[in-house]
Amino acid sequence: MKLRDIFSKAEKPLLSVEFFPPKTDKGEENLWTCIQELKPMHPAYVSVTYGAGGTTQDRTRNIVLRIKEQTGLEPVAHLTCVGATQAQLNALLEDYRTHGLDNILALRGDPPEGMDKFEATSGGLSHATDLIEFIHQRNHFSIACATYPEGHPESTHGVADDIQYLKLKQDNGADMAVTQYFFDNDTFFRFRDAAHAAGVTLPIVPGIMPITNFEQIVRFSGMCGASIPEKIHQQMSPIQQNLDDVKKLGIDIAISQCQALLSNGVPGLHFYTLNKSEATLAINREL
Ligand SMILES: Cc1cc2nc3c(=O)[nH]c(=O)nc-3n(C[C@H](O)[C@H](O)[C@H](O)COP(=O)(O)OP(=O)(O)OC[C@H]3O[C@@H](n4cnc5c(N)ncnc54)[C@H](O)[C@@H]3O)c2cc1C
Repeated sequence: MKLRDIFSKAEKPLLSVEFFPPKTDKGEENLWTCIQELKPMHPAYVSVTYGAGGTTQDRTRNIVLRIKEQTGLEPVAHLTCVGATQAQLNALLEDYRTHGLDNILALRGDPPEGMDKFEATSGGLSHATDLIEFIHQRNHFSIACATYPEGHPESTHGVADDIQYLKLKQDNGADMAVTQYFFDNDTFFRFRDAAHAAGVTLPIVPGIMPITNFEQIVRFSGMCGASIPEKIHQQMSPIQQNLDDVKKLGIDIAISQCQALLSNGVPGLHFYTLNKSEATLAINREL
């Protein structure tokens, strides 16, 4: 089922989950266990990220197609512009179309390891907006995109850029947007209101990152431009070596965050699971 139909028919906020393609067979075994464990929460769709190159890209393809064939869940394949010519992108999209995949999350992507700046491949595409247009022309897929309530780290005019490009993503064919994770809901509400004022009408779904390892979140957040409120630093710093305590507090923080988002009319919640089910399940039990 296409994302645009899933959202247009939804009577209540939709829950979705995200996985990454593991690099090892053991990791992949864990992933399938995690998918089975999360299935009872009836995610509206499950998305699988796309690596910067090599075997993980094949793994994305294989995982989404297996989800489609074997689980009864609706997969969304992430796709980036990194290292791909338009001919290669076209071939992968054709492959997906012939295998009945309906949904793509279209991204520019991060620079591959060892490169500090994104550079378009010769014969490739430069921005997510271009990839969205490219996919939309195929007239088959429903398209999701990413957006950044705190601004993408490379945006030169801060959030104003992100709103402008979100509108362009919508104009180029995106049906919905998923946000980078954030911990301060007010930042999200300001962004959503400004996006609406700029003519954005597509569903903007908050991305939720339950904190299960604080040091890891501090590292991730530094890279992707998500800020961690001082209050969370103060709560987490004294206990960060005790992963059980961190997980318990991280789940409580996420429950409060999700409850406030749901009572403020978000169209859904998208959980970054990091291929682990425990925190996402615990949060959903409370919602
Ligand atoms: C929900 C979500 C899922 C993700 N999944 C993956 C994944 O699977 N694989 C992966 O490698 N990365 C993933 N990422 C990370 C993402 O690839 C990076 O944040 C990347 O740096 C930007 O991708 P984008 O699609 O947002 O790019 P863009 O929307 O192209 O934005 C990148 C920068 O370019 C600017 N920009 C955008 N459009 C234009 C334009 N038309 N002209 C000029 N400037 C423009 C923006 O302001 C921004 O600063 C994900 C991020 C999110 C939020």
